[in-house]
Amino acid sequence: NSLQTFTMSVNIHINSPNVKYTDTHIFAKYSYESTSVQQDGSNITVTPRSTQMTFRTERRVPRLGVMLVGWGGNNGTTVTAAVLANKLGLTWRTKNGEMKANYYGSLLQSSTVCLGSGLEGEVNVPFRDILPMVHPNNIVFDGWDISSMDLGRAMERAKVLDWSLQEQLRPYMSCLKPRPSIYIPEFIAANQESRADNVLTGNLTEQVEQIRADIRDFRQSSGVDKVIVLWTANTERFCDIVPGINDTAKNLLAAIQAGAEVSPSTLFAVASILEGCAYINGAPQNTFVPGAVELAMQRGVFIAGDDFKSGQTKIKSVLVDFLVSAGIKPTSIVSYNHLGNNDGKNLSAPQQFRSKEISKSNVVDDIVQSNPILYKPGEKPDHCVVIKYVPYVGDSKRAMDEYTSEIMMGGLNTIAMHNTCEDSLLASPIILDLVILTELCQRVSIKPQGEEDFQSFHSVLALLSYLCKAPMVPSGTPVINAFFRQRACIENIMRACLGLPPQNHMMLEHKLQ
Ligand code: NAD
Repeated sequence: NSLQTFTMSVNIHINSPNVKYTDTHIFAKYSYESTSVQQDGSNITVTPRSTQMTFRTERRVPRLGVMLVGWGGNNGTTVTAAVLANKLGLTWRTKNGEMKANYYGSLLQSSTVCLGSGLEGEVNVPFRDILPMVHPNNIVFDGWDISSMDLGRAMERAKVLDWSLQEQLRPYMSCLKPRPSIYIPEFIAANQESRADNVLTGNLTEQVEQIRADIRDFRQSSGVDKVIVLWTANTERFCDIVPGINDTAKNLLAAIQAGAEVSPSTLFAVASILEGCAYINGAPQNTFVPGAVELAMQRGVFIAGDDFKSGQTKIKSVLVDFLVSAGIKPTSIVSYNHLGNNDGKNLSAPQQFRSKEISKSNVVDDIVQSNPILYKPGEKPDHCVVIKYVPYVGDSKRAMDEYTSEIMMGGLNTIAMHNTCEDSLLASPIILDLVILTELCQRVSIKPQGEEDFQSFHSVLALLSYLCKAPMVPSGTPVINAFFRQRACIENIMRACLGLPPQNHMMLEHKLQ
């Protein structure tokens, strides 16, 4: 019943003297409650702090353009097709009956937030209705690919969507053609070479200039107000961080001029930042070398990544959090994957696999470190990740995990799980959440009491950690991998924009006599 109610948007109005709506903005006076902790051996002093601040959210939702690097890949075609299918309200028949386009798997479109209790019990509203934000149906897509295939044929190559849906989408998808891209063969697996028939030529500066011109051309020809660029192209090998080459913004720009080693994904990041467009990295490689981060900070542009948190890692960041917070000690986590899509083919090369292995490896660190009862300093569970390419299974990825944990009095608990699903149908809603949240963050600013000006979030947009396997955070700040902490962070910051306290689950109104 409530699902039916919320296929339409709801309007939320906050009834509080601390919240003011103007034609252009929502202003919310907010008391940020935090603590400062001092530890001296076993003596710990905790001092609660209240910081008064004002959140300001711009109400006008712009027309958003999203440019995907790797547009002709499984994720690129699937997310474009899914948005089209939703926009057109398509239905299609399979052997299981009639299917209807939806956005399942999207935090913003398909999950809810509890606003509190009314006369008829709890009121849960779609996440997307908390603040004014872009609806995925209104996103305009464009992008680049080293493969020239139009999106109609590329959707067929991806083998993700049901055939009868593809038939309905083909007339629309076939008109979409990826722009030529930057291809430097040594960064992705050699087995990708046969796809590369749509590549830019010229020196690195000329190629970056072309990408910048593409962004401007798209913005102008499509009439969008804003462009966000997202890398969903093949996983590259890691780059060495070399002083004088990519350690500062100035050196990175000079290295591009000099034709030194800079990865295609970093070249895209630089082009995007120079055009003032947020750039998101959905793959594991270290695109954001220190010079790229500095450039983003200098220009006040958002960057975020790395690597979509879509399947196995998502479960890991829930399961290990559950075990450790229940006082159970995971001691061994072994994860196998096999998949047969082009991503799997690319990852079958050792250097590209290594990028993925690194991004998958740190996901339990913060959870383990949070519990010194179970783990000595520096102690970690054994953690092993294996990925194999098995063409027959296509996009339907298999993930098999074994979690062994110590329980009471020397007992052992082993959980084994097997997970099968289409990889790109997990990643596509994450792509939408990433760009929509990034766009929202561009309209939110905060003024701590006593400061003159409103300030925006740090260029390294850690708020997107929930959607990333290896979350990037501003230097020196904590990385949070635990799934529900990440979700609560997004929810509570959005509540703060409306002057609402964090969701505390105390429900005292039901617990007193
Ligand atoms: P894919 O191989 O189907 O698509 C990648 C596309 O990128 C291909 O069409 C390829 O031609 C293109 N490409 C390669 N280098 C390029 C370049 N320099 N410029 C432009 N295009 C280029 O892969 P996919 O399944 O769509 O996954 C895309 C990326 O997302 C991979 O890096 C993958 O590791 C990452 N990822 C995917 C998932 C998921 O699907 N569940 C989860 C996490 C991360």
